[in-house]
Amino acid sequence: MTRIAFIGLGHMGGPMALNLVKAGFELEVYDLNPALAEPLLAAGATLAASAAAAVTDAHVVISMLPASPHVERLYLGDAAAGGLIAAIAPGALVIDCSTISPQSAQKVAVAARKQGLRMLDAPVSGGTAGAAAGTLTFMVGGEADDLELARPILSAMGRNLFHAGGQGAGQVAKICNNMVLGVQMLAISEALALGVRQGLDAAVLSDIIGKSSGRGWVTEVYNPWPGVMDNVPAARGYAGGFGSDLMLKDLGLAVEAAIAARASVPMGGLARELFAQWSSSGHGALDFSSIVGLFAPPEA
Ligand code: NAD
Repeated sequence: MTRIAFIGLGHMGGPMALNLVKAGFELEVYDLNPALAEPLLAAGATLAASAAAAVTDAHVVISMLPASPHVERLYLGDAAAGGLIAAIAPGALVIDCSTISPQSAQKVAVAARKQGLRMLDAPVSGGTAGAAAGTLTFMVGGEADDLELARPILSAMGRNLFHAGGQGAGQVAKICNNMVLGVQMLAISEALALGVRQGLDAAVLSDIIGKSSGRGWVTEVYNPWPGVMDNVPAARGYAGGFGSDLMLKDLGLAVEAAIAARASVPMGGLARELFAQWSSSGHGALDFSSIVGLFAPPEA
């Protein structure tokens, strides 16, 4: 049976790992916060004492961490401790699902390959609901035959698997997608606030946009206005979901990528500024749909 080490059991990693256990894979899990492992242990996974202990004897290592520094520190180490790649058995497949910079993904992949490991960057889209339902989209960078090895594992967590290109290409695709998402969330938020100020009902306006040319993922499954949809962060005070700080990180990655490529991303740049304002005014831990509060505080 394929033994998988799963590191990072947060909003996304926890439900993703649970789907692997349900699909019959043998899982050893680890998070800096051991309490997050409880639902997995109840489902049959084992808790490792450290990330290094989790990867010993694993055929596949999966990580789902917040950002580039966490991923680089985990795999490559720092002044205080060596990296995980030295502890993984040669020939094993490493799949990093975190959203990080393409440069970090390439740096880790080069080091992993030197160590005789296979490596894919495989960031995801679909949110926490998609993670729980096993319907994520994976955007994969790396060798095609490594993706074929990963396919049965990724298929237990997602519905759409795309091979974006070589190492780091999955991250480029993810950054572009999330730039659209950040801009779209801001656009729907300001439109709903405008409509409500003009006397429209937010639910009626959302329905109209959702069936007109302004429709998209935000109006379909992730409405930011409280009271319009059930089972979204706006229905529970913006708890859980995809943190505003994480969206700010992703928009920062888009702007950095644009500088490196001499590309112009004025909408992405403005979205980054607005999420920076939101985050620095104390809302970074709230779901990113809380950005609607910039235009019309939901409680008003
Ligand atoms: P999160 O903060 O909920 O989870 C990250 C987890 O990593 C935390 O539980 C933390 O304790 C753990 N962690 C950090 N460093 C660690 C280490 N060295 N060893 C073990 N565990 C460690 O974040 P999340 O919302 O699950 O997002 C994870 C990644 O997925 C991010 O890169 C994010 O941008 C991306 N993403 C998130 C969503 C979403 O809707 N939340 C959607 C798509 C992609």
